[in-house]
Amino acid sequence: MMLGRNRLLDEMGLSPQWKRREQPGVARETPPATALAPVAAALPAGHPATLASAAVPQSGAQRVEAIAQMGWEPLRLSIAACRACPLCAQRKQAVPGVGDESADWLFIGEGPGADEDAQGEPFVGQAGKLLDAMLAAIALKRGANVYIANAVKCRPPANRTPETAEMDACAPYLRRQIALIQPRLIVLLGRAAVQSVLGDAGSLASLRGKTLAYRDEERAIPVLVTYHPAYLLRTLPDKSKAWEDLCRARALMREMTAASSAPT
Ligand code: URA
Repeated sequence: MMLGRNRLLDEMGLSPQWKRREQPGVARETPPATALAPVAAALPAGHPATLASAAVPQSGAQRVEAIAQMGWEPLRLSIAACRACPLCAQRKQAVPGVGDESADWLFIGEGPGADEDAQGEPFVGQAGKLLDAMLAAIALKRGANVYIANAVKCRPPANRTPETAEMDACAPYLRRQIALIQPRLIVLLGRAAVQSVLGDAGSLASLRGKTLAYRDEERAIPVLVTYHPAYLLRTLPDKSKAWEDLCRARALMREMTAASSAPT
């Protein structure tokens, strides 16, 4: 028997159910993230990103509240001008994310590296090539029903792992991206993404293979966890485990898509 989508989410423990809805005042057709790049860290007075940052407090509850109301364009401008953590000091530009802004699939990595910092797009270096191959293995393509974001939007020096405080400072941006995209499924790539989205939920090994949930005030979204592509480049034997994770993700997406078209 085919379960309807709501029943399926119930069975997965992801109630209360939520529905994709149009957000008033939020344009869904906005230029790709790269259209705004490069936005240098030092912006001239009067630049729209400077104005956006002037309008948004750099810390505290007011900042979180302001970000939670933003549409895509103010969000991108605010990220470009953000000075909420020390990572802004050395960035060439912030890297908000890339892809289909109403994608079913959201992949979240750790943070930009040198290539991403230079180009303004996530996962464009070696790890990005592997991520593209992983997407292709399950018939997905960057930008086509896929959005790619990072836990932090600015490059950590020497590509170190972002610190908890840096991820916390960036979390309102990631939360707003999730709320705007309303993906059907979130795939977390590596430990930093897990920590940023799920908190201290456990080790990557203990979370792989489970269907977890991201929750905000309005929705619960299934979450799967897998290895970061940069880790897989160093640890080839674990590629087969990542392949298993991707197959699970594809199966879950198929199930949810079928359920959404089944009679309720
Ligand atoms: N690693 C990440 O986690 N994100 C990127 O954008 C690039 C490398």
